[in-house]
Order: sequence, then C-alpha cells, then structure tokens
Amino acid sequence: MLSAEIIAIGSELLTPDKTDTNGLWLTEKLNDIGIEVMLKTIVGDDGARLEEAVRDAMRRSDIVITTGGLGPTEDDITRQFTANAIGRELVYHDEIETHLRERFRAWGREMPEINKRQAYVIDGGDILPNPNGSAVGMMVEIDGKILAILPGPPRENQPMFTDHVFPKLKAIAGEVFVKRRILRVSGMGESAVDEIAAPIYTSYENVQTSILFNKSEVEIHIAARAESAAEAETTANKLANQLIEALGKAVFATNGETMEEVIGMRLKERGETLAVAESCTGGLIGGRLTDVPGSSAYFMEGAITYSNDAKMRTLGVTKQIIDEHGAVSAECAEAMAAGMKAYASSDHAISVTGIAGPDGGSDEKPVGTVFLGYAGPHGVKSVKFTLPGDRYLIRWRASQAALDYLRRQLG
Ligand code: AMP
Ligand code: MG
Repeated sequence: MLSAEIIAIGSELLTPDKTDTNGLWLTEKLNDIGIEVMLKTIVGDDGARLEEAVRDAMRRSDIVITTGGLGPTEDDITRQFTANAIGRELVYHDEIETHLRERFRAWGREMPEINKRQAYVIDGGDILPNPNGSAVGMMVEIDGKILAILPGPPRENQPMFTDHVFPKLKAIAGEVFVKRRILRVSGMGESAVDEIAAPIYTSYENVQTSILFNKSEVEIHIAARAESAAEAETTANKLANQLIEALGKAVFATNGETMEEVIGMRLKERGETLAVAESCTGGLIGGRLTDVPGSSAYFMEGAITYSNDAKMRTLGVTKQIIDEHGAVSAECAEAMAAGMKAYASSDHAISVTGIAGPDGGSDEKPVGTVFLGYAGPHGVKSVKFTLPGDRYLIRWRASQAALDYLRRQLG
C-alpha cells in the first residue's frame, strides 16, 4: 500500500485561531483510493524547518502533499524551500506572469510587482492551474515519488487536487476498492468491546479496524480493501456481521447511524409514539430526538420539569414520592415516565432525573447519580446509573443512556 504524508504550512495553523482542515479533507480522499496517510506535520512560516520537513517526508513516504504558503508575500516561503528540499531550482515562467497580469486587469487593477514571485515554479515540475486564485500549484515526480504543492485556501486546493493530483495518484495506486462500515456500541467500555472484537478483527488481513471511544459510545470503524468493489463489500460485511453477533444487543447502529436516528427508525417501523420528561438533561433528549428530520412522525412532546413543583404539577409525581425518596430516585423517575405517557397519550415515555453536579451530590447519591424511567405498553420501570464526567458529560451520557434504555425496550 502506498504511504502519504501531508504538510500544512502556515504559522496561524499552530495557534488556536486556525485549524488545518486541508489535512483532514486530503486524508479522506487519499484513503478512498487506498493510500494511507501516515503522518501530518504543521510547519510555521520558517524556511529551514519547512525544508527539513519536506526532505524527511520525501525520504519516508511515497506521496507528499503540502498546502499553504504560496501567496505573494514575504512569509510565503513554500516555493523556495520545497525546491531546496528536493535540490531543484525555481524557474521563472513568463506565461504565468502574463496570466496573472490578465487576471488583475480583469478585476480592473494593476498587478502588484510582488505577485511576480508567483511565476516561479520548481524546475521540471508540472504546473497546476488555479482558476480560483493567483497561486499555481506544482507536482514533481522524483524516483517514483510524488510531491504535490497546493495553495492554502480550501476553495483553491480542493478543485486543484481533484482535477490534477487525484487522477495521477489513482493511476499509481492501482485499482483498490475500500468498503467502510461503522458500528456503534452502547453500554460497554472501549476495552470490553475490544476484548470481544479483537480476536475477530485481527484475523482479517486486508481490513483496517479501529475502536474509538466518543463521549458515550464506542465506535468500530471497519475499512476493507480489495481488488474489486464486490470483494471489499463482502469482506466488510462478513466482519461486521461477526462483530454484531459477538457483541449482541450492545450494537445499536450497524451503518453509522446515531442513537436518535435508530430510535426514530424503530418507532416508525412500529408506528408508535414517544414523549420525554427531562429533569437533569434539561431538554437535551428532546433536542437530540427532534434533530432527526421526520421526527414529528413519532415524537409527540417533551417536558423539562426541573423543579419538584413542575414534576408534581405537570407529571403528577406525588408529594409523598418527593418527600420519601427525593426527586432523584427510582420512584420519581418511574412516576415521571408514567405521568408523561398519560399526559401525552403516547405509546412510550422516558424520563431522566439525576445530579449533574458540580454541586448537589451526597454520599448516598453522588454527582453522576441518574435514574431513568420508562413507561410503555407493558408497564413502568427504571434503572440507576452512576455516570462519570463533568456536568457536560454527565448530562450527555444521561441522554444517551436514556435513549439506549428506550431502544432496548423497543426490541
Ligand atoms: P496561504 O496559502 O498560506 O497564504 O494561506 C491562505 C489561506 O488559506 C489562509 O489564510 C487560510 O485561511 C487558508 N489555509 C491555509 N492553510 C490551511 C489549512 N491547512 N487548512 C485550512 N485552511 C488553510
Ligand atoms: Mg500562509
């Protein structure tokens, strides 16, 4: 498999002000044709370091792509130092300058003399035209390796890459087909998932499998490579099915769907409706559910009953429950769900009550204590979780746990 490296050039990319999005975009395109990006570097506007970075990259990798630093100003150093790195000269191209002058004239302006710099390109390199800006790109082939030098602005480098670099890379990469699947798992930690999944996925040679944890769920990313699309698909699906079987009900999405999309699909299939009563999640669950287009088919309503009074007045939670068990209790969660279901006349209702912190915890009910209630056609029940994290994470994880609890009721 061919290896690639990306070098993003620009001091602003080292600060919190500006993120290197070019690298992310390019990585996806390269992965699609079976070229693996092994390293990304961000170099400030420093010639010596840029030269060194490009030289090292060319030694290590088959394909090196740089972005940025091709402007006309003093800090745009990419032309000179990429040329140095590969031991080539810059040569002046009259036709580039003429073209630049015409561009400026078309805007009713004279070309500033500093733009002449942009007429220099690496000796022996291909010139990549830029219909969206003044900097041309370059592509140089050295001993079978490729160095592509692209401008920084995404609206300039993306079409340039697509039109001039991608076809070349595709040709040298050969026909490689990649089929991706994303499985999502809820209610299990990363290592627990890997303990079950690793013995299965490590037996596949041409599949790259990664296990990622994000906020409240574990994702399994599968990328199967093969010489035909059908073969890639068969392999990806075979592995996915084995993993789904081994992990069982914990797998909530088999094609990258979100939890709220999965809930929506289940409810739609069943022709059933849902209402939500939220305390500590403050509307997060309702927000997530209604983010899904078409959710009006099954989502009826939600109530943010934050105070005890609201829980009693809106959901019919009794004073006795609050006094005897507290608002954060199994009894209260169940009464909230039952009350919501009755109020909305929905088929299902879920509720959340808990302590998101940072204050309000006790020995008996520490921060992160969350009770989820469910009311459905077959009765009412609840479950208790103690969730880790700060206020933001506890609320997010509570919303995910509640949706997952509902999912498990939907069969
Ligand atoms: P430059 O080619 O260095 O003059 O960069 C021109 C503009 O392109 C910058 O001001 C950024 O807005 C944008 N840019 C440069 N590099 C990147 C990058 N790696 N990711 C996203 N935007 C970039
Ligand atoms: Mg720059």
